[in-house]
Parts: sequence; C-alpha cells; structure tokens
Amino acid sequence: MGAGVSRIEIPGQVQAVLRRLNAAGYTGYAVGGCVRDSLRGQTPADWDICTDAEPERTAEVFSDCRTVLTGARYGTVTVIFEGTPYEITTFRAEHGYTDSRHPDGVSFLRSLGGDLARRDFTVNAMAAYADGRVIDRFGGLEDLRWGLIRCVGDPAQRFTEDALRMLRALRFAARFGFAVAPETEEAIHALCGRLQAVAPERLRKELSGLFCGEAVRSVAERFSDVLCVLIPELSACIGFRQWNYHHKYDVWEHTLRAVEAAPPTEVLRLAMLLHDVGKPAAFTMDKQLVGHFYGHAVIGAAMTETILRRLRYDRRTTELVTLLVREHGFYLMEDTPKRMRKLLSQFGEENVRLLLQVRRADGIATGTAEGAAEKTAMAEQLLESVSAQCVSLPQMELNGNDLIRLGVPQGPQIGAILRALLDAVLDGSVKNERGALEHAAREMIDKSEYSL
Ligand code: ATP
Ligand code: MG
Repeated sequence: MGAGVSRIEIPGQVQAVLRRLNAAGYTGYAVGGCVRDSLRGQTPADWDICTDAEPERTAEVFSDCRTVLTGARYGTVTVIFEGTPYEITTFRAEHGYTDSRHPDGVSFLRSLGGDLARRDFTVNAMAAYADGRVIDRFGGLEDLRWGLIRCVGDPAQRFTEDALRMLRALRFAARFGFAVAPETEEAIHALCGRLQAVAPERLRKELSGLFCGEAVRSVAERFSDVLCVLIPELSACIGFRQWNYHHKYDVWEHTLRAVEAAPPTEVLRLAMLLHDVGKPAAFTMDKQLVGHFYGHAVIGAAMTETILRRLRYDRRTTELVTLLVREHGFYLMEDTPKRMRKLLSQFGEENVRLLLQVRRADGIATGTAEGAAEKTAMAEQLLESVSAQCVSLPQMELNGNDLIRLGVPQGPQIGAILRALLDAVLDGSVKNERGALEHAAREMIDKSEYSL
C-alpha cells in the first residue's frame, strides 16, 4: 500500500484464467475478497473473477473446461480450470431490491467501474489485473490501512437497496477488528429495523460469521440495536444487573465476554450468545438482596430453540446449541473419574468436550472465577484418560484366556481377577494396555489375593 502502484501476488493459475480471457479479446480482473485479503497479507480462500464477457461467451472461451452456468441470470459461470473452480461473473449493475431479498434484475455492463460501484464496501470494491496491479476507485486501500468498513456511495441508499449489507458491515468489522466509518455507522443505527425484512437464510450466514469474528465483543456492544432486531429476546439481557457476587458484569456484558472467550466455531459461539438468554425471565431476589436465576438454563434452552428455528438454522445446529444451553450449568463440582464417566455416558464424548468449553468460557466471563482455563485443561485431561480407559470387560485389553496363559486355573478366580482389573482401570490406577494389565494381574496373583 502507500503511494504509487499497489500490487498483489496473483497465483499462476488465476493469471492463466485472466490471460485466457484477455487473449480472446475480453477484460478480466480478480475482484472483491481475494484482492482485500491479499492486501491484508492473507491467503484468499477463493479468487473471484469479473469480466466484460457475457456468460455464454465465457463458456466459449473455456470450452475445453467443464463449465457450469451457476447463476447465468446474474452473470456467473463456474469454470473448472485445471481442477479448481473459478466463479467468473460478467460486470453488472443491480436494480432495486423491492423485497429486500434479491435484486429485481441485473444488467450487464461493458466496464469495470460500474461493477465496482455496486459492491458493498470500499475494501471489497477493489480489483486487480493479471499482473497484480490493484485498481482502487473508492479509497479501499486507504480504508484498509486505517481499518475502516465504509460503504461505497451513500450508506443510507446502499442499505435501503439491500438491508443485509448492514449485517455484512458488522461481520467484516468483527472479522478484521475494523471500525465502521461514522456515516456508515449512523446509517446502520437508523436503518437496522429493515433487517427484519431480509430472508433468514441470508441473515444466518452473516450472523454466524459475525459471532465467529475475533472482535465480536466490541462490535456487538456498539451495535446491540442491530442484534436485537434479529434476536429481540436479547434486549432484556442488556443492562440486566445480576445482584450476585459470582458475577462482576450485567447479563449482556457477561454474555459478550463469554462469546469472546469461546473457540470461534458456530456452535460454541451461538451457545455462548444464548446461554443466559433465560436469565431475565428467571430472576428472583432473596431477603439478603442476592439475585438468583433458578431454572434459567431450561427456560433459555426453550428460547434458544425458538430463536434458532426462526433463523432457519439446520436441525443439527439447533439441537446441539439447545443442548449446550440447557446443560451449561452442569457442575463437575469435583472433576472425578466417576463423574466424568457419568457425563460421558449421558452426553457422549464429543458433547462433553463442547460442554467443557462452554463451562470454561462461562467461567472466564464471570470476571470472578479464578482458574477456569486451568480447570478445563485438567478436566480435558481427565476426559482423555477416562475415555482411553475401557468402560466394560469386552473393551479391556486383557481377557480370560490371557489369565489362563498366565497360570490362573479356569474357574471363578478368572472372573474375579478380571473384575478387579476393570475396577483398577476405571479408577485410573491401571492403564488399559496389555503390559500394564498383565503386570497388575501378576501382582494380584502373587499377592495371592486370588490364591491359585
Ligand atoms: P468472504 O471471504 O467472507 O467470502 P467476500 O468479500 O468474498 O468475503 P462474499 O460474501 O463472498 O464476500 O462476496 C463477494 C463480493 O461480492 C464482496 O467482496 C462484495 O464485493 C460483493 N458483495 C457480496 N454481497 C454483496 C451485497 N449484498 N451487496 C453488495 N456487494 C456484495
Ligand atoms: Mg467470498
């Protein structure tokens, strides 16, 4: 970046695609996210290409490749070039979004300028030639340098055209740790009610992206009004004082800290966002002026299910997040092997791992619990050792025949020794490994606990 020409590195294969278009008399540029990510020093997930060739012409240029007219109506052809799919889209303008869902129509353009102008944010509205020179018509380089999400053109107009862009602004801000430019922010606060009209399928992807962003907490704090349009149930949490010495923060601040403390996966971040959503409804205060939230996890789980269904999350995600919210208060008071085995049999290993992460994030976010991270690390170790242990005789690495081979006569002793070994394995004093089990068996025999 800086004065002069900015360049990015374009992979040879992408260059070959662009040069093929050029050789056929068309223009071709890398555009959008791939240019932005390259300038940020990150490897783009995919390279989108735009061209003045109309879809059928693009298909001709790549007639030796497999091509799919994915969205020919919108100008997009997917070309499988040397095994990699590329979306090649004709320069286009979009007209009106009367339903806030889809453009009413698109028209193809002859030049790049109009195509860049229809794009949402300056940092997303840059293109690059095959040789890597960057084309920046709207100050994207500057905004990238200062870390700003700014609309291309008039924010109010752009958000009125397509309300989803408001949520996209927050998603990019959270992902890159960028601020939203002042006029863009102002328009979001003014117009966010319009997000209600956007199809949940479009909202969901941006919403999950937002919550998985590194800077989610500051963005969600500043734009809680936007989140409350999408999930009105959250509004009762904002500023809800807990009256409890275990908690340093109000419900909303605790919630956002918990989101931030969880690993950035969709399921865990949604679970933390919603884990205490039932608290305002469950609040009681005792005579000592201490607040309680009995049953909030169960209330919250029911709310979570409603919320995620309304946003059209898939069934698996909805069920899993609901489970995590319902069970988030599980307390492994003492993380004993016995308790861990019980959890494993109740929820299964994968879900116990998730619950431990939930408990960890929840603990960190109280602002008062010491050692939540260390406790989780220890519980995870315990989980490893317990799950590595067998839970029943058939899974034990030593069986009756092995004992006979060790010299134990057939008879009731066999069963007695096996059960004693299993107990030792379950309480963690002996590993479920052949060598260790044989050693333990010999000791039992030698001590003539099981006289031969
Ligand atoms: P990501 O890495 O998250 O995919 P991206 O920039 O590629 O980032 P996409 O959602 O894949 O984001 O969109 C590709 C490009 O299309 C964007 O960079 C932007 O230029 C444009 N774009 C996408 N959605 C919109 C929209 N709703 N309004 C205007 N332009 C959009
Ligand atoms: Mg993309």
